[in-house]
Amino acid sequence: MEATTQLNEKQRVAMTYQWLIVGLGSILFLSEIPRLPIERIDLRFLLIAALTLIVSARVAVKIPRFNVSVTISDTFIFLAILLYGGQAAVLLAAADGLITGARAGKKVRTILFSSAVMACSTSISVQALSLIAGPPMQLIRQPFSVLAAGICAMALAQYLTNTGMVALGMSFKHDQPFWQIWTRNCIWASVTYFAGAILAGFIATRIETSGLYVVLVALPMVLILYFTYQKYLEDIRKTAAQAELAERERAEAERARADAETQRAEQAERHVEELNHYISELERTSRALQESKEHFRHAAFHDSLTDLPNRSLFSDYLKLAIERSKRQPDYLFAVLFLDLDRFKYINDSLGHSFGDQLIVELARRLQSSLRQVDTVSRFGGDEFAILLDGISDPSDAIRVAEKIQQELLRPFELGGHEAFTSASIGIALSTGGYDQPDYILRDADTAMYRAKDAGKACYELFDLEMHSRAVIRMRLENDLRRALERDEFCLYYQPIMSVETSRLSGFEALVRWQHPERGLVAPSEFIPVAEETGLIVPLGSWILENACRQMKEWHTQHPANRSLTMNVNLSSKQLIQSGLVQEVKSILAKTELPARSLKLEITESVVMENAELATTMLKQLSDLNVHLCIDDFGTGYSSLSYLHRFPVDTLKIDRSFVNRIEEKDENVEIVRTIATLARNLGMEVVAEGVESEDQLACLKALKCEYAQGYLFSRPLNSEAASAFIDADHDRRHEEENAQSENHAEVARLEMVA
Ligand code: C2E
Ligand code: MG
Ligand code: MG
Repeated sequence: MEATTQLNEKQRVAMTYQWLIVGLGSILFLSEIPRLPIERIDLRFLLIAALTLIVSARVAVKIPRFNVSVTISDTFIFLAILLYGGQAAVLLAAADGLITGARAGKKVRTILFSSAVMACSTSISVQALSLIAGPPMQLIRQPFSVLAAGICAMALAQYLTNTGMVALGMSFKHDQPFWQIWTRNCIWASVTYFAGAILAGFIATRIETSGLYVVLVALPMVLILYFTYQKYLEDIRKTAAQAELAERERAEAERARADAETQRAEQAERHVEELNHYISELERTSRALQESKEHFRHAAFHDSLTDLPNRSLFSDYLKLAIERSKRQPDYLFAVLFLDLDRFKYINDSLGHSFGDQLIVELARRLQSSLRQVDTVSRFGGDEFAILLDGISDPSDAIRVAEKIQQELLRPFELGGHEAFTSASIGIALSTGGYDQPDYILRDADTAMYRAKDAGKACYELFDLEMHSRAVIRMRLENDLRRALERDEFCLYYQPIMSVETSRLSGFEALVRWQHPERGLVAPSEFIPVAEETGLIVPLGSWILENACRQMKEWHTQHPANRSLTMNVNLSSKQLIQSGLVQEVKSILAKTELPARSLKLEITESVVMENAELATTMLKQLSDLNVHLCIDDFGTGYSSLSYLHRFPVDTLKIDRSFVNRIEEKDENVEIVRTIATLARNLGMEVVAEGVESEDQLACLKALKCEYAQGYLFSRPLNSEAASAFIDADHDRRHEEENAQSENHAEVARLEMVA
């Protein structure tokens, strides 16, 4: 709104200015008409006037960027001034202005303004000329200096007035400083004015002598001058246009570059933002990753229940200790291997969560018993290992073991329950010259087992003998696993004799291992290993089946000895095996041995340790009509109340009492008591390990029914046992014959008498 008001105001000023000039021009024009020297108007003047109007109508030089043209008609107007005086020239100039104005625009105001400007400027030129050089029409007759000064004054006045008025009009119209417009657009025009004035002066002086033809001759020159000049202007315009275009393109390119730059900057800013975001994300993720890595690393090397180092980490510590002991001969360390003695019992009776509590508390007590430099590790379950680092003497390790056992004497508080436990500890010292953690751990473990064997709740120091025993034991275990497949087992049979009659009553099957390198291996060496490894179960089945088959064979071979029985030993593992009864039944069926011919021996300790289970099992076996014997009786701690509840048929008195029966009266009394007890309970008695006639006599006196021992026979292989049966049969036959002969002799003597 404000801008529009300003525009209107500018136009109003420009218009006022133009009308003012028009008014001024009109006054001049009107005042000059009466003074026009009509008498001087001739054909030449008409020719000049015609040329002026035609040329100015056709040939105009447009001022670049402005709606104003300058014509070369000024030359003719100057000529008119010099030849016909100011009045004629003003009228001609006004006419010329009308035509030039009409060419430039159609507005009346513009046309009149153009005419008025020409009239005014011509009038002022005339005034200037008159002032400097006297009457215009006298100028061509003046000396050259006056002529030149007059022409210059005329040209200058025309130039200044003409361009000044036009520039002032443009200044009002475009609201630009007058001086700026004038210098930029009008300076060049001075050339036309001065050239035109000089040319006019030249023509005027020549016209006096050569007539009108000079004008005609000068016209082509004027035109050539004009067109050259116009070409020059055209070139300038083109150059200016090109420069303008180049400038526009440069500005355009500059703007595009600036835009691109801004875009790039914005994009870069966005990227930086994204990058910052990404970096912070990355930092967060990597932080969470290092943390979780730390967590996993910790979990990988620690026990989850106690947070103690696990076996893997402990082995690393051990490796360092071993390396150090190699470098420093006086550096000593020890490994303690600890295993709780009745942990399974606590777990089974109180539950696993209390078991866990006990382990945690144990870990705490172990740590409190050690120095900062020592390491406790949980290997799993109730197994712990301890590294005593840099001890000064082997006795330090023993002192620590004793301190730990002292610590374990205090009861453990488990959710209101008081639990007691003890530990077996094995100790291995670095003096053993170990170069791998596994070896020292293995030896500490071996020593720990030795402590268990020695009655638990104690410690053992590893020695070399233990090591070689462990190696032998390991080899035995490996060989034993293959022995059954390779058919390396065989059965020996030891006769069981009637004490009264000294006749064969049956055999006890005793297993032997025919080792390919070691020869015959005694059962006391491999049966415990077979029991620990579980191999006793398939081995036991093999023994039972072969013993039954053998006895059946003997029954068939010696029909008179069908009362012979076969004793087969059962291990504790077999007894707790749920399929035992079914297995016995199927073996009897398979070998067709009558159940009454089979006697199963179970050692006293096995029966008593599993009293409840044994009662049920023995009952089921007894229901099969199989006889049951308690072996090695007297070595375990039999509860008499249990004994009476077991469906047992025979007690086998352990060899340790029978062997030394003559040595002490006590032994006699023990055997007597067992024999009496058995009789009272309706059981038979077998004395094991009878080696001498005295022992046999003693047993006879004690009314022991059966006996077995080296006195009668060592365990025999099947052929020898078969021969033993034959010999017994023959002996019995001879005895019967002798007896019947005796009877006949007695009868004959009685008849004689
Ligand atoms: P056991 O069942 O008490 O077997 C008797 C052991 O005493 C046998 O030893 C036998 O050779 C030995 N013996 C017999 N009479 C005498 C004697 O007058 N003096 C001496 N010093 N020893 C005598 P063996 O064969 O070495 O068996 C040892 C133990 O191994 C057996 O004791 C038994 O507990 C176990 N055993 C043997 N064979 C088997 C088997 O087939 N299965 C099971 N589970 N255990 C078996
Ligand atoms: Mg036996
Ligand atoms: Mg025995």
